[in-house]
Amino acid sequence: MPRFQSLEAALKHYFGYDSFRPGQKQIVEQALQNRDQLIVMPTGGGKSLCFQLPALLQPGLTVVVSPLIALMQDQVEALRDNGIGATFLNSSLNLHQVRSREQAILSGKTKLLYVAPERLLNEKFLPFLDLIREKMGIAAFAIDEAHCVSEWGHDFRPEYRQLKQLRQRYPGVPTLALTATATDRVRQDIIQQLGLEQPSIHVASFNRPNLYYEVQPKQKQSYSQLLQIIRQSEGSGIVYCLSRRKVDEIAFKLQQDKIAALPYHAGLSDTERAENQTRFIRDDVRVMVATIAFGMGINKPDVRFVIHHDLPRNIEGYYQESGRAGRDGEKARCTLFLGYGDIKTIEYLIDQKTDVQEQRIARQQLRQVIDFAEGTDCRRTIVLGYFGERFVGQCSGCDNCLAPKPVADWTIEAMKFLSCVARCKEKFGMNHIIDILRGSKNQKVLQYGHNKLSTYGIGKDKTVEEWRLLGRSLLHQGLLDQTTDGYSVLKLNSASWEVMRRQRTVSIAIDNTPNLAAQPLEAR
Ligand code: ADP
Ligand code: ZN
Repeated sequence: MPRFQSLEAALKHYFGYDSFRPGQKQIVEQALQNRDQLIVMPTGGGKSLCFQLPALLQPGLTVVVSPLIALMQDQVEALRDNGIGATFLNSSLNLHQVRSREQAILSGKTKLLYVAPERLLNEKFLPFLDLIREKMGIAAFAIDEAHCVSEWGHDFRPEYRQLKQLRQRYPGVPTLALTATATDRVRQDIIQQLGLEQPSIHVASFNRPNLYYEVQPKQKQSYSQLLQIIRQSEGSGIVYCLSRRKVDEIAFKLQQDKIAALPYHAGLSDTERAENQTRFIRDDVRVMVATIAFGMGINKPDVRFVIHHDLPRNIEGYYQESGRAGRDGEKARCTLFLGYGDIKTIEYLIDQKTDVQEQRIARQQLRQVIDFAEGTDCRRTIVLGYFGERFVGQCSGCDNCLAPKPVADWTIEAMKFLSCVARCKEKFGMNHIIDILRGSKNQKVLQYGHNKLSTYGIGKDKTVEEWRLLGRSLLHQGLLDQTTDGYSVLKLNSASWEVMRRQRTVSIAIDNTPNLAAQPLEAR
């Protein structure tokens, strides 16, 4: 191993870079001191270098666990192009190839070995690692996409739970866990599940200052709304949809409207997907209409807009997907359509899940997406807050900061709403409460005798949509709670009682109302 004057010299020697990105140097230094580390950096932040450089400066082999075969191959190829001894073992290789790679590793030229997590379960693999430890030593374990270990992340993979075995079997070997998305909860999970010991934790900023965030109420003619944005925009963009059917439909319509667009989803053949992706990256087509299957590991820096035609399932996913815009640092626009039908669709999908814990997580994540989309605070503050990052106010790069919505005092209405929840003994959901307030004669109201309540019919002056806006706003503002058991029963909290006792006032942003009214009834 050559000796270097400084880490910068080593960086230049192996990778050709002149300086470290923020955070990298300290991480490399601590890796060289054999510290366990948790590294949270947004995609493109330069995580790989944090374990690759130490691997080259230490004796022994560094084992990198990475869940995506394609990414693994890319990284290994890139390292080899730089003349660095790297290899991978995964299910794409036949037995003969595996054997010859193992031989090469044991001959000592390899510094980085990439493996898929399921390989660890292979009974032959751990004895092989033992052999490596004896012969040349294991320098470190680097666990990429470490959030996969957590059920609270967006990409839980049960195989990741096996990784703890590494820690138990090789107690002295330091572990670096790396991820691009981790809420506080997921971070704690990673530390615990991987058994990191007094890890040093590095969290880089997730802020993407060049991205403009906006939410538009989804109109009945959502396709025209989409087409209009695409026509207003320049450069290429991605449209994300929830279902394959929707992807095909929108891609087709765009083509009819003379916009060069292609679909991308898991229902297409591998070749078709690869070809569509290449044509998008080469600027043959302008718009990629895709499900969330599109994006992992895609590097197209000049994406100018990302439109979420349908509601994303969670904020992490939204951050990643919208974050594919503007990688080149130039301005880009991220638009999300908020449709109440989408909420229903996602709720339906959640109800289909059989695992109760999974359901609970999915509901909470949906709640956060709705809070983000309906909220009137700075979008950037909300997204960054989700990643535990404080961003104070006024970003001037989101719709809520540039055009704050008008606010009205709805204290009286809130009192009516909350007392109605109280009269119903906190046993019903929002639709029922609104039916009572509006004096509906529907069967459920009559069946419970709720037409005899003092709050029956006291809210006829407001539309269903207005009451719904108020109800959701009370939830966002923490002035009312809702159960997450699938029934969404409204519950009062101490803040609700303060409102009812006139100890606090309630303001709500009202600019959404006309658009909400435009929603067809069954879509809500
Ligand atoms: P991540 O894994 O965090 O998404 P990568 O490790 O793939 O990010 O790095 C993103 C890009 O940044 C790569 O093209 C990499 O070569 C480049 N990069 C990383 N560190 C540096 C550096 N110190 N100087 C210049 N470029 C860097
Ligand atoms: Zn803002």
